[in-house]
Amino acid sequence: MNTFKEEFENKKLSWEENDMVDVDYTCGYCGAYVSSDKGMPLIYTDFRGDQTIYRGAGVYICTNCRMPTFMYKNIQVPGNRYGSPVKDVPVNVNDVYEEARSCYAANAYTGTVLLCRKLLMHVAVDLGANENLRFIDYVNYLNEHHFVSVKSDEWIDQIRRYGNEATHEIEVNTMQDAQMILKFCEMLLKMNYEYPSIANND
Ligand SMILES: [Zn+2]
Repeated sequence: MNTFKEEFENKKLSWEENDMVDVDYTCGYCGAYVSSDKGMPLIYTDFRGDQTIYRGAGVYICTNCRMPTFMYKNIQVPGNRYGSPVKDVPVNVNDVYEEARSCYAANAYTGTVLLCRKLLMHVAVDLGANENLRFIDYVNYLNEHHFVSVKSDEWIDQIRRYGNEATHEIEVNTMQDAQMILKFCEMLLKMNYEYPSIANND
């Protein structure tokens, strides 16, 4: 994708783009909050056959990374990748975190929750927990060893709900579930990888 942006900037690539009614959105590719008025507008045809440009709908080109996003009413595809990137996270952990964010952007909330659960277990082991424990034991480990902030009790209670392995039923998770666990993972990764590495580099 970086190559794409570079080739765009040195004019090797270009979109056949039109002026549109500008729309503000968070780009699902690069995460930048942009205001774009370039792209491919959606045309509305009425019963007489008259055509008008549908305001705020069509394919918008991100002003930062030049990738296209479809907008129509409340639909944005690809959607916003919830959460922020985190620095200095081990590559295998970061890949799972980024994949969880991509699932969120694709409205795949159960996928997000499952990946975040995997991530929390992996991080707990990386931070000294034993292997082959239950999800709930890993959450407790992170909490009891203060790898999460001491004021996270309510949060921890919510996260424990995602570890109900006893039922073996497939639970379809909601957007709120996905947001909750993604934010928790982001906080955990920042506190245990990004911030310590800032201190060590000084
Ligand atoms: Zn972008």
